Parts: sequence; structure tokens; C-alpha cells
Amino acid sequence: MRCGMEKTFSFEKLGQDGKARTGVIHTTRGDIRTPAFMPVGTAATVKAMMPESVAATGADILLGNTYHLMLRPTAERIDRLGGLHKFMNWDKPILTDSGGFQVMSLADLRKLTEKGVTFKSHIDGSRHELTPERSMEIQRLLGSDIVMCFDECPALPADRDAIAKSMRLSMRWADRSREAFGDRPGHALFGIQQGGLEQDFRQESAEALRNIGFDGYAVGGLAVGEGQEAMFKCLDFAPDMLPEDKPRYLMGVGKPDDIVGAVARGIDMMDCVLPSRSGRTGQAFTRHGVVNIKNVRHKDDPRPLDENCTCPACSNYSRAYLHHVYRSQEMISGMLLTWHNLHYFQELMQGMRDAIAAGTFEAFQKTFHETRANGDIERL
Ligand SMILES: [Zn+2]
Repeated sequence: MRCGMEKTFSFEKLGQDGKARTGVIHTTRGDIRTPAFMPVGTAATVKAMMPESVAATGADILLGNTYHLMLRPTAERIDRLGGLHKFMNWDKPILTDSGGFQVMSLADLRKLTEKGVTFKSHIDGSRHELTPERSMEIQRLLGSDIVMCFDECPALPADRDAIAKSMRLSMRWADRSREAFGDRPGHALFGIQQGGLEQDFRQESAEALRNIGFDGYAVGGLAVGEGQEAMFKCLDFAPDMLPEDKPRYLMGVGKPDDIVGAVARGIDMMDCVLPSRSGRTGQAFTRHGVVNIKNVRHKDDPRPLDENCTCPACSNYSRAYLHHVYRSQEMISGMLLTWHNLHYFQELMQGMRDAIAAGTFEAFQKTFHETRANGDIERL
């Protein structure tokens, strides 16, 4: 790169196997290998993890939540303190959501109008307003590398009229988001496809977004209680409607088998609280499925969670120890299990990237499902 040339956001596809893609998203803060899993750092921290530990698990990018950060410590304060990267000591890329989804799921006394949403904070009851313009401003103050359009996401099931009305409002908001975002070299704005499980509405939404033009495209409005079968049915057509040469992001997904199925259907990026949240409730994700460390069967077990895992929890501690610190409510329990879970999710992504590049993704999926179906190792 020549000195003085502005590095900008771009997506480079390196391989494809069936619908599954692998590639790299280039950003000014470093490359994001795809398919990518983004750990969630809701309140400027991935709970129970130091940022350098999150990076050590293989994460190239984190997700931050606009709704939480605007309420506490506020976007203006983070801006004054040098932006979110400096504030939380994470120098790799950050994607922020728009706040729309969490206003709908967490805030009190919401009022939705054409202009935006007014609501009461779940923390102290204070009144706030989020509009496409305000969401763009907050995400700019945070210094987010990938900014999401402000949208509305109806809970499923909903009737077709409600889904269409909500999707069309989100498309008008997408237009206003694009306008308010303006021209910010090195920063990307993603549009969000809506339309529930309805193929015609997904198509209408995709066309509206393509006409506006974005740096990447998210499939929104899934993983909201419709179940895996319905989600996969929608993913059989929804990603294909989005531009082939831009990253496709499935928001809020998911469990390991959701992730593998989504990648098989052409998704490049995902995020979920599951590995970190489960780590704090004694659940570990392994090749063999979910292990409940609180289960008494682990009490005397000197073996690691997964003998093939190279994370600190598996390298240095037994199931008996992990069981003990969980039962004793020691902080290290959440720390070790979160580290293991994030490590497992990132290894899963690396395995998929390698398999797609090698053209062996079908065999990868077969092994993934068979190993899980066999279940956890025999008890001692
Ligand atoms: Zn491990």
C-alpha cells in the first residue's frame, strides 16, 4: 500500500464450496477472516475475559451494543475518552448494532413512530429517543468500524401485514441511516434485510437495500423464537438475494449447529452471547456437544473437558476442578468456561474456513454432526 493511500473497507472472497464462502474482510483496524464469529462485548467488555484473552481465542472482531453503551456510560463520554477501542483496550475491529433490537427487547414504555423509538431506560427509568440519525451519531461517537442500520424487528410469529409494515418502515429507516452515515472512509455501513419468514418480503427488502447500496448486508429478524428448522428454511433463500460480492451477516446466531448450517447457506459473519453467557452458567460447548459442568458426574473426574482442546481450561484443569469452582461460585469458573467456549467457537470457524478452502465442507459437516451425536465421553 502506497503511503497516503486511504485504506478502505473491502471483502475478498477466497474460496467457495457449495454455497459456503470463505474470505477476508479488510478494515483499517485489521483483517476479519470469514466465516467469522463475533464475541459479544455488550457493556464494553466480553464478560469474564480480558481483551487480550479474547484475541487469543482467535477472534478478529467484537460486537458492542449501542443500546447499553448509550445509557451507560453514554456515547458522548466514550467519545471524550478516546472512543470505544481505546476505552475497552481492543484495537481490532468493532461492529456495533443499531440499538433497535435491544430497545424492543429490554426497554420499558416504548413508543414507535415513523421518526423512531422513544423509551425508558431499564437501568434508571430515564427517557431516551433512538432514531436512524441518532443511532448513526452514537455509533460514530463510539468509533465503530462496522455500523448497522437502525431497524425494527418484529417478534415471530407475526401476521403478514404486520411483517410487511415493519419491514417497509425498516427500509425507510435504512435510507435515512445511509443519509445520516454520510461518507466516512474506512468505516462501513451494513443494511439489514427484514421480512420475517416470507420469501416475497425478503425479496422486496433485499431490493430496497441494494438500491440504497451498503458495504455489507445482514439477514435480520431471525433467531427470534422461530426455531432452527424455520430459520434454515428462510436461510435457504434469504442470503442468495443479497449481493454476492459483499459480506453477509446473520445477526444473533447462534448455537454451533446453527452456525454450521448458516455457513452452509452462504453466511459470512455471526454473533451470539451464547459462548460467554453459557460459560457463566456452567455450560461448556465441546465437539461432543454441551457439557454441564455442575453435574455431579464430574466431581472426581481428573480428565479435561476436551482432551483435544488447547485452551487454558482444558490444558491446565480437570473436570473435577471446573466442577468444584462452579459449585463454589468462584469467579475463575466463569473465566475458564468462557475462555473454553470462545476458543471452541473460534476453532469451529477455523475448521470451516479450512474445509471450505479445501473443498471438503460436506465431509466437515458430516464429522461435526457425527461427533456431536456420539455425546460426551463415557463417565468414569
Ligand atoms: Zn478448552
